[in-house]
Amino acid sequence: MEGRLLEKTWAELAGIGWRGKNSLLYSEKWGSHFLLGELLISAEVGEFKEEKESMCGDCRLCLDACPTGAIRKPYQIRPDLCLDYFSLHYDGILPMRVRELMGARLFGCSTCQDVCPYNREWKKVKLQPESGPGLFIPIEEVLLMDEEKFRRIFSGHTFKGKALTLLKRNAIVVAGNLRDRSLFELIEPFAYDSPSLLRQHALWSLWRIDPSRASGVFRKVRAQEIVPRVLQEINALQKKRKS
Ligand code: SF4
Ligand code: SF4
Repeated sequence: MEGRLLEKTWAELAGIGWRGKNSLLYSEKWGSHFLLGELLISAEVGEFKEEKESMCGDCRLCLDACPTGAIRKPYQIRPDLCLDYFSLHYDGILPMRVRELMGARLFGCSTCQDVCPYNREWKKVKLQPESGPGLFIPIEEVLLMDEEKFRRIFSGHTFKGKALTLLKRNAIVVAGNLRDRSLFELIEPFAYDSPSLLRQHALWSLWRIDPSRASGVFRKVRAQEIVPRVLQEINALQKKRKS
């Protein structure tokens, strides 16, 4: 079988929950903090339609809190603006405006869930033990992390593909947003010797942290870089500086 299952739609039709204005599925017991799983069977089942009414009422907390305006209208999300999509599922070059909007978010965004009154009770629950690295992880630790440590810390998570590379990409972006000069030396090696995805973001991050110092790095990178889009990043940043 090919293609993706529209699991939220099926779950909604089955009466498992109702749709919030942030487009997530809600259950009375768990708010939006639960995962859907599916079992595909070949047996035919009768028709069912148990859709529940949305319980959002006049609330629009999630729309107002979304940092990017991705919830354009109630129940409609623009994935090309959603930080959760970009930081967790998109494995390419992050558009510059998205990098800036990420702020200090390393992986994911749950602002539209955090502000929701239906998640209030759930927020009091403390996971014991805390899953994965917990809520915070030092940027330095991510930048220096190897595969073995990544697997140890994130065991049990469902990351796929080049997850560590994406985590490092995001850490490099967050460092740029924090403009923390103490991170310059940790980021600089990525500009010369790392996958091109990281080289490109590292140039942006260095430029955000210290544009004058970054100019020296740009000169060295120009002398050895062969990937056109990485060189274009330098051109775009230098143009930005002049304007
Ligand atoms: S996850 Fe973040 S960016 Fe995406 S819709 Fe929710 S608040 Fe907006
Ligand atoms: S924050 Fe308000 S509008 Fe958004 S999903 Fe929750 S109840 Fe609905």
